[in-house]
Amino acid sequence: VRGSTPAPGAEFVRYGGHTSCVAVTHDDAQRPALILDAGAGLQRASRLLAGAPFDGTILLTHLHWDHILGLPFFAAGDHNEARVSVLLPEQPDERPAAAVLAQVMSPPYFPIEPTELRGAWTFGTVAPGERRIEGFSVLAREIPHKGGRTFGYRVSDGHSTLTYMPDHCPTALGAGEDGIGEYHPAALELARGADVLIHDAQLFPEELAAEASFGHAVGDYAVALARRAGVRSVVLFHHRPDRTDEALDGLALRLGGGDAPTVSVATEGATLTLP
Ligand SMILES: [Zn+2]
Ligand SMILES: [Zn+2]
Repeated sequence: VRGSTPAPGAEFVRYGGHTSCVAVTHDDAQRPALILDAGAGLQRASRLLAGAPFDGTILLTHLHWDHILGLPFFAAGDHNEARVSVLLPEQPDERPAAAVLAQVMSPPYFPIEPTELRGAWTFGTVAPGERRIEGFSVLAREIPHKGGRTFGYRVSDGHSTLTYMPDHCPTALGAGEDGIGEYHPAALELARGADVLIHDAQLFPEELAAEASFGHAVGDYAVALARRAGVRSVVLFHHRPDRTDEALDGLALRLGGGDAPTVSVATEGATLTLP
């Protein structure tokens, strides 16, 4: 649920301190097959497998630290019997995925390289467009963020749809009609009619002027985008690391409580059941 860097401490316990990670499970399955982002929260995802090795895909939105640093701490993946496919956005220089990750995960920055994890790990890239991943239909679109190519994803099993845009800077494309960012075609396409939109809410409105250049959105944008795109439920995600439980209660009060879409503030360990 957290953005930028983990946030341990007494004032963060209710909403949680691990960085971005969302595990997606099919209706009829016991265990997740698709994991969105490998932030520090990936460490917790092992619990969902109850000791079993992971057999599935980790799909990364982009390569910022808060979305990849959990990779070597995923016990269910770093396991002799595991099968893990890691997919990340195609890089402008077309470097192989394992080499891109090894740039931050290799000595002297880290003791081992991605290819040294136990189990059968493969590394690949995704291009914008639609493809099948672990039995889901996944649409990838490039969205504005900052420093490095970033994708938003729309994941569907044919009857339920989840849209995931944890890091999104819509003001990079202009102020838009509400002054909080452009409602651009990629964001609208990803979100259209989704059951759940998990979206960047790193900034509060009073911070937007000073901090928009860091590449994030205000929660108000997520709600307004959801309204335009006919989304049923918005989950405000990627909380600023210094955002206390009290401040997030305030966010829930300010943006929650309306009719449609329903709005909630992401809480670590929460389970969302899609209709
Ligand atoms: Zn992030
Ligand atoms: Zn980022």
